[in-house]
Amino acid sequence: MRELRSEIRELLREMVLIPALSGYEERMACYLSEAVAPFVSEVTSDSLGNVIARIDGRDSEGPRVMVFAHMDQLGFVVRKVSPSGLIQIERLGGIPEKVLPGLRVTVISEAGSEFPGVIGVKSHHATKVEEKYIVTPYSELYVDLGASSAEEVESWGVEVGNPVVYEPRFTALHGDRVSATSVDDRGGCAVLVKLAEYFGSHPPDSTLYLVGTVQEEFNLRGAMVAANQIQPHAAISLDIFISCDTPDLAERSSLKLGGGPVMGMYTFHGRGTLNGTIPHPALVRLFQAASRSGDIPLQRSANLGSLTDSSYVQLVNSGVPCIDLGFATRYTHTPVEVCDLADLEALYSLLVAGLSSVGPDFDFSRRPVPTSLGSE
Ligand SMILES: [Zn+2]
Repeated sequence: MRELRSEIRELLREMVLIPALSGYEERMACYLSEAVAPFVSEVTSDSLGNVIARIDGRDSEGPRVMVFAHMDQLGFVVRKVSPSGLIQIERLGGIPEKVLPGLRVTVISEAGSEFPGVIGVKSHHATKVEEKYIVTPYSELYVDLGASSAEEVESWGVEVGNPVVYEPRFTALHGDRVSATSVDDRGGCAVLVKLAEYFGSHPPDSTLYLVGTVQEEFNLRGAMVAANQIQPHAAISLDIFISCDTPDLAERSSLKLGGGPVMGMYTFHGRGTLNGTIPHPALVRLFQAASRSGDIPLQRSANLGSLTDSSYVQLVNSGVPCIDLGFATRYTHTPVEVCDLADLEALYSLLVAGLSSVGPDFDFSRRPVPTSLGSE
């Protein structure tokens, strides 16, 4: 098992170092396609950029099961290049403004060249006492590429709308914990690759679709487009959950790093989005059983304020049974997200156990029939 964990670590390391802002996922899509291609029946992509890998099962009557993780990450786009060559930015996704001043970022030109930059911060020696504890809105921040004029920036091919991301980083902390940019959701993508390897040589009784989705951090709806093509009988999202084992979140939930994979029992986001996922009970039963049979601890999450692209997948066609599975992550949406590789490994094991037991006879009913009624 140590070997599996180190393979997941290496996959995660390689993937977090690939910049893939929402809408600009091509490099991640190439990586993921090439990583799964040797193990699957077919890999395709659609016009939005979703990567769809199909593994034909042993039973063609078996259900179509979609397992997906988003390839994109949040960041910014260039809003304006000022005459002095400093770049103003527009946010793309849920950026925590508190962490921005003084950060290293990467600006990607129209042609795909990467430029290192820093987000400027008012010189500390000139900061008034009353300004010290005020969060500066992103709209007042700027990226410094070292240029002296707008003309110089333009000569590099950097233009309005070009992507800006946290400088990609991977830091191994003690033991199995790692800190990186875009653990959300390269952690899920790493598990997808390992699932392709496993089910490539152990075909299930279902047809399995492993999907790297796009634009989750932007509008949550890239996965919906993939589901429209696949028409799955069930769909499973792999993504982060908010780890609450730090002093600032201790009251919020019991989710912790190293506590095993997480099953989402309730997500909801009200402001504008007005969506969320209450999992289909057949899938809750499936992964509860997989947790028991594999002796894998399973944490449960019920939280307002976040959601995943499963909330849109469940609304495709006449409805798709959906569930959110994932792993606890600290410091979400910052450049130092922390996860535990043991949780990713256990998530993989939970999925192997659960997906292996889905075949033509899988019970997709919403409620088990009470035995007293069933026997009458
Ligand atoms: Zn995510």
